[in-house]
Amino acid sequence: MIRIYDTQARAKRDFVPAREGKVGMYVCGPTVYNYIHIGNARTFISFDTVRRYLEWSGYDVTFVQNVTDVDDKIITKANEEGRSAAEVAAEYTEAFIADMRAAGVKDPDIRPKATEEIDEMIKLVETLIEKGHAYEVEGDVYFSVRSFPEYGKLSNRNIDEMEGGHRELRADGKGLEDRKRDPLDFAVWKAAKPGEPSWESPWGQGRPGWHIECSAMSRKYLGMPLDIHGGGADLAFPHHENEIAQSEAACGCTFSNYWMHGGMLQINSEKMSKSLGNFLLLRDVLKECDARVLRMLMMQTHYRSPLDFSKERLDEAGASLGRLCCCIDRMDWLASHPDENAPAFVPETEGFTFEKAVKNVREAFAASMDDDFNTAGALGAIFGFVGEVNAALGTATFGPADVANLESVRDVIIELMGVLGIDVAPAKAEVAYPAEVVDLAREVAGFEGEDAAEAVDALLEARADARAEKNWAVADAVRDGLCGLGFTIEDTPQGAKVSYSC
Ligand code: AMP
Ligand code: ZN
Repeated sequence: MIRIYDTQARAKRDFVPAREGKVGMYVCGPTVYNYIHIGNARTFISFDTVRRYLEWSGYDVTFVQNVTDVDDKIITKANEEGRSAAEVAAEYTEAFIADMRAAGVKDPDIRPKATEEIDEMIKLVETLIEKGHAYEVEGDVYFSVRSFPEYGKLSNRNIDEMEGGHRELRADGKGLEDRKRDPLDFAVWKAAKPGEPSWESPWGQGRPGWHIECSAMSRKYLGMPLDIHGGGADLAFPHHENEIAQSEAACGCTFSNYWMHGGMLQINSEKMSKSLGNFLLLRDVLKECDARVLRMLMMQTHYRSPLDFSKERLDEAGASLGRLCCCIDRMDWLASHPDENAPAFVPETEGFTFEKAVKNVREAFAASMDDDFNTAGALGAIFGFVGEVNAALGTATFGPADVANLESVRDVIIELMGVLGIDVAPAKAEVAYPAEVVDLAREVAGFEGEDAAEAVDALLEARADARAEKNWAVADAVRDGLCGLGFTIEDTPQGAKVSYSC
């Protein structure tokens, strides 16, 4: 049974979707006026992992993520750059999609854009006015917070203790307090200002407020109640609180059965944010580091906890990933180079069997992930398994009868890491080999071909021959040459194993 920490209940609850076997999940997307930073990426990566785990657990998940492509920030940027808001939004929407894919985040099933769903938002605003939860003032429409007595239930706030929660400014810079019936009220529709994108509505030309977008789009694509609504913890108030008020006031039913909020990514214990200027763009970080390493770093911390980002932690994550890749590489190599004459494998650890170890790691992984997506615990299970396998295997020699077992070790690690969104399947080695290895093979092993993988084989053969003849000069020249190009050589009872990727 999966248990999810629900922000509204302030406790972990058993996860029971509204429709058996199906999960409808909505995660607030970005406002597209800039490239995303690794803080934003953390939230999206966390929810991508939640989705992957639900799918792995057998649920049919529909994942919806909006793009906020009309907003004050987009308009300001467009004005600064002398471009249209639509141009700015299109550029950064495309960049966002490319960045997410580069970070190993799956595309959502549906990615609605606010500007393409205006009719839906107008309908929702009309319903709110009809039901007495919203009112119009000179082309603006405000949600009346006090008309929804449960306001504050998500973020655990009391209406009477909130003051002017939603200060908004008019084009002339003056406060809107005089127009609203209550300072707590917030805009669901904004009258057009000169030079801004706007749409025809029953209240004249205007554009939607930010919160109404998510209420309208999630209802349209998932129906209500949603099973899971997610976002970063900074969105719980006011954004999600307002979404709840609008959606529940309009339909009289629960908006989302579970609310999940991710912790903030921090630098020097301070939230990473565009306004503080302490941000690293995801695309810049991925120029310097493998996306899998960044993701490994994120998976080492529970999604609700703050995550301190540093170069040191990234390096450590790289080393951990390297250890896993080495194990997979080793299993892969042993399974594809069985010694025809090897006797049946006898584990070095008493009681070890491949079947049991593989079954245990699956169970331990699932137990951690079931507990509110504890990815750190899940990684712990995988590393524990790798340690156990390495200890049991020792320096044994493996024969044809062991191939399936070795493959099962390799495959379970690849499968479980895949659930965390980290692809550790052995790379097609030839693709990654550097071209210089061909020159080395020509020089030291008399190789005459062009192919890098064949060159490596020729070098290993030359080294084995040289060692048999005790010609250490040649044997060392091969080893040093390969190491100099970034290869590692490990001598095993089944021959020399060379790896390049880890
Ligand atoms: P925004 O474009 O500012 O609405 O942010 C998009 C998403 O990134 C939201 O879910 C935010 O909660 C999330 N986010 C923003 N800053 C951080 C951060 N430092 N750490 C984690 N998530 C963040
Ligand atoms: Zn939202």
